[in-house]
Amino acid sequence: MAHVPDLDVFRYHNGPFEPKNWAVPLRAVGWLEHPQSFTTGNVTSSVISKLKGMVEQTRLAYSQYTFRGGKSCSFCLFAGLSDPGPIWSQENIFVPGTGVVYVAPGGIVHYVEAHSYLPPREFVEAVLRCPDCRSNEYRTALCVANGGIKPPMETHEEFSLRFHEQAAAAILARERRKG
Ligand SMILES: [Zn+2]
Repeated sequence: MAHVPDLDVFRYHNGPFEPKNWAVPLRAVGWLEHPQSFTTGNVTSSVISKLKGMVEQTRLAYSQYTFRGGKSCSFCLFAGLSDPGPIWSQENIFVPGTGVVYVAPGGIVHYVEAHSYLPPREFVEAVLRCPDCRSNEYRTALCVANGGIKPPMETHEEFSLRFHEQAAAAILARERRKG
């Protein structure tokens, strides 16, 4: 994952990671990579625990949007520190803002805790306002942030259902061809 400057429009992947799938700007926060510099400062413990909670909730409700493979912290590696290990995650959180949606890597928790990273104020405020990522309120908040248009994100349940329906349709089509 390359470094993306804070509040730049995110361009990386497909689905909810694709800016054109949103009606409002999808802005990156916390996509840090050594040796790019970043803003440092104090983040309250309530913000840190909220971010941790959101990462965990997203892992449970939207696991299909987790990037595969391990990710090391390039700042720790450069400093010769041990790999942050299990606290590092590959979940990505989507945070509804005002006419904007933010996408942050789960590793933002580590950057804040271990490297005193200070995310942009507008993002921190949006994090504090964000409902539980497993809730309908969260879906609604994303929809409102997206100008009233359904966000391009499926819950893990919707994703599995669609996946199984497609698999069943493929099996039926194959059976029919045989018959
Ligand atoms: Zn680190």
